Amino acid sequence: MRFDIMTLFPDMVRSVLEASVIGRAKEKGIVEIEAHDIRNYTKDKHKKTDDTPYGGGKGMLMSTQPICDCYNAICEKLPEGTKKVIYASPRGRIFNHEIAKELSQYDNIIILCGHYEGVDERVIEEIVDEEISVGDYVLTGGELPACIIVDAVSRLIDGVLSDKECYEKESIASGLLEYPQYTKPRVFNGREVPEVLLSGHHENIDKWRLEKSLALTKERRPDLYEKYMALHPPKPPKKRKK
Ligand code: SAM
Repeated sequence: MRFDIMTLFPDMVRSVLEASVIGRAKEKGIVEIEAHDIRNYTKDKHKKTDDTPYGGGKGMLMSTQPICDCYNAICEKLPEGTKKVIYASPRGRIFNHEIAKELSQYDNIIILCGHYEGVDERVIEEIVDEEISVGDYVLTGGELPACIIVDAVSRLIDGVLSDKECYEKESIASGLLEYPQYTKPRVFNGREVPEVLLSGHHENIDKWRLEKSLALTKERRPDLYEKYMALHPPKPPKKRKK
């Protein structure tokens, strides 16, 4: 799978996506990630990539020409396959695990990062398939949202994590929030690891984890809890033989 990110701050994106798990996946060739500097495509002699908005208002808007030329250059070199173009934007569909799964089915994802007051609307009309938001708050640029999207989608691709179970059993993907986890030492500041986790009894451990997950989800995310319970209704108690 390939990600192309169009940005005025490519180093911001590179520094995040070249580290840790995603960086290793990139080194192994499981994912390709390239950050493209929109400024390299401007035809303005002063290297300008933005201008004041028509109709007035504060701030600057990123202009059409450098973004569309950058996009065309990416498309010329894009490998065969399905493609989706995303504009990171607070106006978009709010990103979640289902959208990450949906995006992981594409061969090529192109993400446009806005900055300042955003981009000229005609860029969106011309090249964007969908606007995606990372939450109901406004950031200074689309670079962090792009990194969030690339990270969340990449870890669903085979080979990026050591085992599929790593994400299937995690919060949200499992339908529940994760149970509490512990590592060594057994006692920390007088707080002990729950006895059942030291028992080696896998059935009891699974039962304890499910109970904790259900309790946490019910308390913190009643919306998820109800969904989960509708899909996994409790089994009726077995009738006793007379
Ligand atoms: N004027 C825009 C508006 O009111 O919708 C906000 C522009 S914001 C300051 C600059 C850029 O940051 C946006 O173009 C977008 O790319 C990015 N951005 C900000 N908040 C975001 C969010 N919640 N999700 C995704 N991208 C976001």
